[in-house]
Amino acid sequence: MLERLVGLPRVRVLAVEEDPLAVHVETRLEMPEACMECGSRARVKDRDRVPLTDLPCFGRRAVLVWHKRRWRCPEPLCPATTWTETCAAIASPRLKLTDRAGRWVTFQVGCHGRTVAEVAADLGADWHTVNDAVIAYGEKLVEDPDRIGIVTALGLDETLFAKRGKWRTKQWSTSIVDVAAGQLLDVVQGRDAAPAARWLADRDPAWRAQIRWATLDMSGPYRKVFDTMLPHATQIVDPFHLVRLSGQKLDEARRRVQNETLGHRGHKADPLYRARKLLVLAQERLDEHSQGKLTGLLKAGDPKGEVTTAWHAKEAVRELYSHRDPELALEWVDQLSADMRDRGCPPEVRQLGRTMQRWRTQIAAWHQAQVTNGPTETMNGLAKRIKRIAFGMTNFRNWRIRVLLYAGKPNWSLLPTITP
Ligand SMILES: [Zn+2]
Repeated sequence: MLERLVGLPRVRVLAVEEDPLAVHVETRLEMPEACMECGSRARVKDRDRVPLTDLPCFGRRAVLVWHKRRWRCPEPLCPATTWTETCAAIASPRLKLTDRAGRWVTFQVGCHGRTVAEVAADLGADWHTVNDAVIAYGEKLVEDPDRIGIVTALGLDETLFAKRGKWRTKQWSTSIVDVAAGQLLDVVQGRDAAPAARWLADRDPAWRAQIRWATLDMSGPYRKVFDTMLPHATQIVDPFHLVRLSGQKLDEARRRVQNETLGHRGHKADPLYRARKLLVLAQERLDEHSQGKLTGLLKAGDPKGEVTTAWHAKEAVRELYSHRDPELALEWVDQLSADMRDRGCPPEVRQLGRTMQRWRTQIAAWHQAQVTNGPTETMNGLAKRIKRIAFGMTNFRNWRIRVLLYAGKPNWSLLPTITP
């Protein structure tokens, strides 16, 4: 009955201890092992007691203590000398969790996005014990070649994954994303062109040929990756990046005008400082009262109307994406960027206009992609998933596997079949 409860094949229960619950087991032997070097019948030299964190049993944390045989070859000249028995159904060599606990933690951390610390606390295990298992099982799962299917729209995006060392140096990575399906395909180290280009070069040319759309932020390195590796694909600036840039320019204008008019950085009572949160809101989210308040604050703090112009520019950029006609998109982009480069505009807005001019075709291409199965809105959710895992990671290999488990759509039905 005990052996049925323990539920492992070929196992004999030797003893059960309480507080903490520890189940001592050994494997059943049909016959002694043969030496893998010379084929002689091996002798048991001694036993190792290996404690393995198991899944909780009837509401209690449990440890499986495996009395592992150490075998010795009786032939004095045989190079095998001694070795320890293995049994993948109980636990993988080198992992300190049972096999079933290893799969469970991989699913909790990888699929549900729980932290390693949380899951380790559930089992009463050490952080490293759980992390090692997640990486060992997870690596096999994300390497499944069928995980990456046909991709028609590919995006590159930079992600900060750690701040390391004494100076908290920022560690960047590049996310390679299927922007139509909302799937993270891979992450590579750094945010320059070479690693992403190498990743694409490693794919099948037929796979690359199916990519019609290539999305990017307004960065030179990613443009270079697409120019060289996917020259046939239409490049698209992700609206998120342009809208964010217009928000940054508004913020810069607000700070500069604040400083020029009052001679100091924003204080609690300064009108522009008080307007900062209203300025970033989308216009349609301002009710009548907030709209009136914003107008009043700008009147008081923005004598030359520069912040107001930057605010209108930000709203106009957002407005660009409510248009649906791909035939006219380039005309709108050109008109808007020309208006922004007008000499009457504050320098921040003129800068935004010049950036838009440089990326005009890539910005307008978004409208064209909307009428086909191009990039979709699911990207926002994916970016959030990626960011959630990024927090606190310091090792690139661990980060890559964790984020691919969580945002890379691995085939979880394969989890019971893989062995690390
Ligand atoms: Zn031997």
